[in-house]
Amino acid sequence: MVTTRAMMMTTSPDWARAVAILDGAEHVCLACHIRPDADALGSMVAVASALRDRGQGVVASFGDPFVVPAILTFLPGLELLSPPDRFPARPDVMMSFDASNVDRLGGLARSAGAAAELIVVDHHATNTGFGSVNLVDPAAAATAVLAAELISRLGVPLSREIAVGLYAGLVTDTGSFRFAATTPTVHELAAQLLRAGVDPAAVCRELYDRAPFGYLGMLAAALGRAQLDPAAVGGRGLVWTTVTRADRERAELALDAAESVIDEVRRTDDAEVAVVLKEDDQGVWQVSVRSKDVVDVGEACTELGGGGHARAAGFSHTGRAGEAIAALKGVLDRA
Ligand code: 5GP
Ligand code: MN
Repeated sequence: MVTTRAMMMTTSPDWARAVAILDGAEHVCLACHIRPDADALGSMVAVASALRDRGQGVVASFGDPFVVPAILTFLPGLELLSPPDRFPARPDVMMSFDASNVDRLGGLARSAGAAAELIVVDHHATNTGFGSVNLVDPAAAATAVLAAELISRLGVPLSREIAVGLYAGLVTDTGSFRFAATTPTVHELAAQLLRAGVDPAAVCRELYDRAPFGYLGMLAAALGRAQLDPAAVGGRGLVWTTVTRADRERAELALDAAESVIDEVRRTDDAEVAVVLKEDDQGVWQVSVRSKDVVDVGEACTELGGGGHARAAGFSHTGRAGEAIAALKGVLDRA
């Protein structure tokens, strides 16, 4: 696994080569990162729909666990998904969405390694440039921005179906147009997507404003055991909590139900860094890390075997939650 800063590289987008490869492809195999979020899955289904609209064959998938998160089941175009065991072992043309390195494709990383052409579409600054063509731009607010550019260059008109996938990615990765990446270009793209038929209230209600009743109990348990360490991160403060498997099992919730807990925890005025450790069904901690103004958590998480952006990143930890927090504090104090 590529984890050191020195090994990273980001190449500038090579649109012409990507378009030429896609123009010449009869079939395209699309993959996004495991445990996909709205940007990964939305961007992938949008491009899959665009290619299908041009009459091309598509196979779209993501590595196990092959379960669409509950809040993303409203996305149009999900019928284009197939399970990862049906994904070709040696695709002629493969695409990767929102994955900063090949390992983030999970079980589909082998197909990526064997693909004749691999078009990587991503906006992580830590992207390793693992494609034969890299459409990678860390200045893009979301992978959806790059997917929209590609669809436009392919000459495919924005259907409502395409636009909803792109909008879901755009709204999520900009924190509902709140984060620093919310440029005029972002709002211009949002306007185009609304003109193509996106109902923003309906999309945001699906993404943010619904959960089963059991979610309230899980959230209460997680927030109730939050801990603040004001001395951590050189005195800037770190707040953290866990969402255990038991918390979820009481309400029969899947791991993705814990995704939004970080958005409550990171409110904490007393902490520059917020962390939520989510225990997955295998007992592994999936760690979400956020910062506010100064700390590069992407770099810190990369050192711990994960990755992400300066203000939003993550890593996995097998063992005790306290160990993961201690390791993260150590890295952040040295930074
Ligand atoms: P989240 O906390 O929402 O799962 O992830 C925040 C950001 O960090 C996203 O850009 C996500 O792709 C990235 N990220 C989360 N976990 C990992 C990980 O284990 N490895 C890598 N490379 N990136 C991660
Ligand atoms: Mn993204």
